[in-house]
Amino acid sequence: MSILAIIFLSIYCLIAIMMCHQESQKRKINFYLALLICVVATPLFGYFIISGMALRNPKGCKWCGNLENESEYCGLCHLNEAGKTDQETKVSQ
Ligand SMILES: [Zn+2]
Repeated sequence: MSILAIIFLSIYCLIAIMMCHQESQKRKINFYLALLICVVATPLFGYFIISGMALRNPKGCKWCGNLENESEYCGLCHLNEAGKTDQETKVSQ
């Protein structure tokens, strides 16, 4: 293996480890499990799998009490933080 390939592989592994470390703190996934996914599914596809995991601190919804909500509009009551639906926001803009 050439020295360039070794350098490239080291940087590649380092980025994968750093990504797993960061995501495992934000999301409900163990660091070693995240690393295993990156090894098995390559870091690129691993990142998509890991980013599909639930957040440790989802912002929730103050209107219906849905604690698992992560998106701008709540999945249950379809309201954003201002209490407006997607349609109402479009009309007012
Ligand atoms: Zn809601």
